[in-house]
Amino acid sequence: MAQKIVIVGGGAAGLALASRLGRKFGHQGDIEVCLIDKNTIHIWKPKLHEVAVGVIDQSIEGLQYRDHGLKNGYQYICGAITGCDPQQKVITLAPVLNDEGDVIIGERSIGYDHLVLAVGGVSNSFNTKGAEDNCIFLDSLNSANRFHDKLLDALLQLNETQDSVSIGIVGAGATGVELAAELHHVIESVSQYGYRSISKQHLHIHLIEAADKVLPQLPEQVSFRAQSVLSKLGIKLHLSVQVKEVTKQGFITKDDELIEASIKVWAAGVKGPKVMEQFTALPITGRNQVQVDDCMRVKGFDNIYALGDCAELIQESGKPVPPRAQAAAQMAETLYNNICLKLKGQAEKPFIYKDYGSLVSLSRFSAVGNLMGNLRSGTFFVEGHLARIMYISLYQKHLISLYGWFSALVYRFAQKLLRWKRPKLKLH
Ligand SMILES: Cc1cc2nc3c(=O)[nH]c(=O)nc-3n(C[C@H](O)[C@H](O)[C@H](O)COP(=O)(O)OP(=O)(O)OC[C@H]3O[C@@H](n4cnc5c(N)ncnc54)[C@H](O)[C@@H]3O)c2cc1C
Repeated sequence: MAQKIVIVGGGAAGLALASRLGRKFGHQGDIEVCLIDKNTIHIWKPKLHEVAVGVIDQSIEGLQYRDHGLKNGYQYICGAITGCDPQQKVITLAPVLNDEGDVIIGERSIGYDHLVLAVGGVSNSFNTKGAEDNCIFLDSLNSANRFHDKLLDALLQLNETQDSVSIGIVGAGATGVELAAELHHVIESVSQYGYRSISKQHLHIHLIEAADKVLPQLPEQVSFRAQSVLSKLGIKLHLSVQVKEVTKQGFITKDDELIEASIKVWAAGVKGPKVMEQFTALPITGRNQVQVDDCMRVKGFDNIYALGDCAELIQESGKPVPPRAQAAAQMAETLYNNICLKLKGQAEKPFIYKDYGSLVSLSRFSAVGNLMGNLRSGTFFVEGHLARIMYISLYQKHLISLYGWFSALVYRFAQKLLRWKRPKLKLH
């Protein structure tokens, strides 16, 4: 009888895994590969801030799971996981509702022989009062679209009234920095699209960070450079500032100051999604991640794996693998090899995370970051156009894992041609 591999979550990790497994086994008949995602299209998460500001249009750049599954040998099922029963080897999917709230498909159960959890992570508000109600968490396609709608409303209003608009972003990690820089670029560009009364003086961008520098996880030189670029762009940096409450008016700091913002974004911290709390049979941590061993097997289970942001894998150094796209991609590659080994009855190999450095985009033409050299040379600093090209090549690598070399190149070329003709900004 055919063995069924079910992967839940088609993001940086899950989709890369499903594509490779589907291409290898999908057309053979004895192994069935099935990918489940709550969305019908995939956008690589590090590009969410570009969706949010309208630099990319999800309807053009988004990958349709159904079509991709057809061409890459896996079956796609649309649904959100709500439960996992390892005894019965069954997961449960929530009912699917239409816009009016009517049930289109009721709750379903899906059986598996091998289960892979790859449902990603969400921002962590650390229970800050008012954050859930007043902030947009830039951690899903829906939230990026919500931000986009709010931005369009603000632009319309600005153009008519010439008042100013304030956008506050909590967290000066990669997401917050990239969003702030991209917003600046967008405001500079909108006047050519008929928003004649808008200039950068009308938009106040506040970036709020509890640490004493931006990009606190990255080397000093990268933080310093990003900080100076952001300051030059006119982005107001609030460093060593902790937010204790979020209200409709803005952010209240530990020192009881109010940082006013009509659009509020929370881009700090990562934890597993709330649904993980439902998986009571699995070892779930206080941060809603599932504990895995060094081969990414959920502890205590031989046929359940987890990878990417929803997994807690402690390295030999005692530190967990960081929640990054490069870690998700590396995990997908190792797990692909391990599943192949397991199906041949051979021993699986441990995952070893290799940090190749980090690159942070500072809008369309520049980026900044550090790359790992060898042991003697340590890390080296890159910036400007070269760093930007390297940053773009990370996305190219993701595309290669989804389509293979040739199709990824054709896809990129087609996208470039389309970009040349279509609007540079999505303003609807
Ligand atoms: C704005 C932003 C910018 C970033 N920039 C960078 C960067 O520059 N460099 C870097 O290394 N990392 C970056 N990251 C982090 C990186 O994107 C993540 O670490 C990476 O995407 C994790 O991959 P994943 O597969 O675990 O999760 P994801 O890519 O988040 O995929 C999770 C998938 O699971 C699906 N899903 C969620 N819940 C359910 C459910 N209940 N049922 C079914 N499906 C579900 C989602 O729809 C999604 O498709 C950024 C993150 C954000 C938000």
